[in-house]
Amino acid sequence: HGLFSAAYGHAVRGHEGPAIIDVGAGRTLTYADLLTGAAVVRHIITDVLAAVDGDIQEQRIAFLVPPGADYVHIQWGIWAAGGVAVPLCTTHPFHELEYAVADSKPSLIFIHHDFAHHKSSFTSTFPSIKIVDVPLPHTPSALPQTPLPDPSPSRRALIIYTSGTTSKPKGCVSTHANILFQAASLVKAWHYTPSDHLIHILPLHHVHGIINGLTATLLAGGTVELHPKFDASAVWKRWMDGDTTLFMAVPTVYARLNTYFTTHIAGTDAEQAAIHGARKLRLVVSGSAALPTSVKTRFREITGQVLLERYGMTEVGMALSCRYDDTDGNGRPDGSVGWPLDGVDVRLASDTGETIHDDDTEGEIQISGANVFKEYWGRPDATASEFTSDSFFKTGDIASRRPDGAFFIRGRSSVDIIKSGGYKISALEVEREILSNIPNIKEVAVVGIPDEEWGERVAAVIVTDGKEMLVKEYRDLLRGSLAGYKIPTVWKVVDGIDRNAMGKVNKKHLVKDLWP
Ligand code: ATP
Ligand code: MG
Repeated sequence: HGLFSAAYGHAVRGHEGPAIIDVGAGRTLTYADLLTGAAVVRHIITDVLAAVDGDIQEQRIAFLVPPGADYVHIQWGIWAAGGVAVPLCTTHPFHELEYAVADSKPSLIFIHHDFAHHKSSFTSTFPSIKIVDVPLPHTPSALPQTPLPDPSPSRRALIIYTSGTTSKPKGCVSTHANILFQAASLVKAWHYTPSDHLIHILPLHHVHGIINGLTATLLAGGTVELHPKFDASAVWKRWMDGDTTLFMAVPTVYARLNTYFTTHIAGTDAEQAAIHGARKLRLVVSGSAALPTSVKTRFREITGQVLLERYGMTEVGMALSCRYDDTDGNGRPDGSVGWPLDGVDVRLASDTGETIHDDDTEGEIQISGANVFKEYWGRPDATASEFTSDSFFKTGDIASRRPDGAFFIRGRSSVDIIKSGGYKISALEVEREILSNIPNIKEVAVVGIPDEEWGERVAAVIVTDGKEMLVKEYRDLLRGSLAGYKIPTVWKVVDGIDRNAMGKVNKKHLVKDLWP
């Protein structure tokens, strides 16, 4: 089943709630509205591009549109027209938008009026690219007369740019088959149903927001409540209403929800309603960056919810997930991203490319399955070099596996695995222990800084609550939990650590800024 036929099924059956609640525009859409909107956008596209037979043959179409009804109409309309959707990041400055547009070479861009200030830059930099203004005209709600055919599974559907944490962002091309497999495997693993109501606060230019949030919920016939951006008070307020079943976010969002509860809700009249509402959610998921155990523990103290951590990336969607059931037993172990999803082959490989079978031995995560993307857009060499000879994708992430099969991420081989005095040290492990053992440290990024004697030295960049301590005191607090060689010797206090929309720190930039 494709996405459109699934949506037809939901529309015809008349399911339990709306498809989309557009909080920014104050609109609610049924599944019939979504399909109508897609048909209208398809018409606009094929008209503007003068497409033969109403098919634009995998031309790319970019869109700079905030999370809301028009975003979904446009994405689905591009697919209905046979095009490749290129969602742009709404918070990027023009030069980053320019990078994605110059790389993906769309023939048309949809621009929402919130971003009208970029329009003249687009027209002068890319004079041949057509522009369509958003908001789109509203259409009367009725199922399109002729059903939209599902796009062919082998066609290119989506180009999503990676976060650019280790180098320039790469455009990952996924086919319709890839997207459907990625979404369907989550529907199965996390039990999405038509009665689900997701509060969606993630940006819509990464897989986390697009696949795990939007597409999987719509595939299952649930309701996606699209918020223009994350706002801790709005999320707590919606949880208090008691009708939310699903929530997904990055670790920094959970840290902010915890803080908001402590500073604004605890001890007020709203406290009981907040706790009660949060307890009613059936699933709360964290991913995109390592979840500090301190954040997970605090969230559980407040809400009773054990965050489910999962691991994935732009190139493969989700690959590993903690268990839906067994929240209290061993299904969601602290620090673990869980087990391979059904149909996803996950293995660990040594530096020389041998598959590792031993428990607790570190290696690179390599992945194969129908979820794995088709190619890096316009970079055949990069595509070829990121796959093994037996077609596994080389993630560049290092992990180990326990005897029960649960995976533990150690970090990216290029920035999180610090090589010091002959040892390999996981920055993620050190970060986790710092946050668990040193209460006045609010945020941390552990990095390796070049050193003649040691190769690299372990350095901790920290944000404190204002109460600072001596380096010796920090180090002493870690002695019980970390071997001596892992304990940072350099400590640097900063006002804040830059994170992108997905909660990721660009450690290469951080090191360059602080140790030029
Ligand atoms: P680039 O590939 O451009 O350097 P990126 O890898 O950060 O950037 P994404 O595809 O958005 O771009 O992010 C995927 C990466 O995020 C994974 O490879 C992994 O390093 C990290 N990641 C995702 N989930 C988790 C998790 N639960 N724990 C730790 N790391 C995670
Ligand atoms: Mg990557």
